[in-house]
Amino acid sequence: MRSPRSELEAITAAGLHRRLRTLESATGPKVLREGRELWNFASNDYLGLASHPAIRAAFHEGLDLWGHGAAASRLITGTLPPHEALEETIAKAKGTDAALSFSSGHAAATGSIPAIVGSGDHVVIDKLAHACLIDGARLSGASLRVFPHNDVEKLSRLLSRIRGVSPASRILVITESVFSMDGDLAPLREIVETCEQHEALLLVDEAHGLGVFGPGGMGLAEEMGLQSRIDFHMGTLGKAAGLAGAYIACSADWRELLINRARSFIFSTAPPPALAHAARAAIDLLRSPQGTALRSQLRERMDRLRPGHSSPIFPWILGTNEAALEASASLENQGFLVPAIRYPTVPRGTARLRISLGATHPLEAIDALRVLLENPPPATRPSEAR
Ligand SMILES: *Cc1c(COP(=O)(O)O)cnc(C)c1O
Repeated sequence: MRSPRSELEAITAAGLHRRLRTLESATGPKVLREGRELWNFASNDYLGLASHPAIRAAFHEGLDLWGHGAAASRLITGTLPPHEALEETIAKAKGTDAALSFSSGHAAATGSIPAIVGSGDHVVIDKLAHACLIDGARLSGASLRVFPHNDVEKLSRLLSRIRGVSPASRILVITESVFSMDGDLAPLREIVETCEQHEALLLVDEAHGLGVFGPGGMGLAEEMGLQSRIDFHMGTLGKAAGLAGAYIACSADWRELLINRARSFIFSTAPPPALAHAARAAIDLLRSPQGTALRSQLRERMDRLRPGHSSPIFPWILGTNEAALEASASLENQGFLVPAIRYPTVPRGTARLRISLGATHPLEAIDALRVLLENPPPATRPSEAR
């Protein structure tokens, strides 16, 4: 039998070895790692909710009211009032009939996509969509087609070809709203129109849109007034909401089908009731004037790092794994935590630094980072800055 060592050696030789590095503090704009204080530009905590006192208080309250363990799956005895309250709050905010929560975004994708489509159906997915969306599509057994990133014309051509040969099958189009590793936005309006034209269902993953876009912080679809034209709104509670978990907001019938078919939902212990209680508080906060204030604080910081950039995610493409790792190590030496992102998280040859901004980063830390990025050591000059 092969030993795992041989594979680890191959991974290392390809510059793709990863290891866990433990923080020695709670997360926040400043963290402690290996005894050093670092400005944290690595987390997806866009509004600072992961260390927000109101969310912490809600978690405590949830703990006291409903406890820490659900002790069973949702379909057995794991559904408690905070789970229902969270789902009602999300549905209301999204303008859908219903919503269903999951333990993670990965579970939401791998559970819901195979519940929506199956063999004989079709999934058409953006080339840069998150790994969990691709995993869900593969698990579904539907035929899988990829369209070039944000290329609506190609998407439209693919859809009309599929409709030509299978007029009655389900087609599910999948995209992100804010792309996790590139920070660019999907042309949502055109995608919505194309799906309507070809009678395709649309799933939009707002993992990086929730909290950041929209007058009520519900994401890019809310910002663009498209909420009622999207079949499945996916979002995660581990990013701007500062907790963990995810949801699919959809019609009541689809929710009922997900409850009956999504294996990651059915065969998994319900999320801790205290977590669901805190997540509802986080969604309420996103929609409150305080959420609006945090979003404008975030906008100010985005403009500070690069005026005109569309999201708090800033990729700095360096090309090779070695260049990305070296640039990340060099920034760390100067007190900045900025991760190197490599294949398979991004396509081969596009290894990069990924900077993510939060509303609670001090402006001075952003200015200092900008200076470092504008004057990189020669070995780490970007081949293509975006
Ligand atoms: C993080 C992420 C997920 C997965 O969500 P988790 O709750 O972390 O499992 C799904 N989609 C996108 C686009 C993400 O960035």
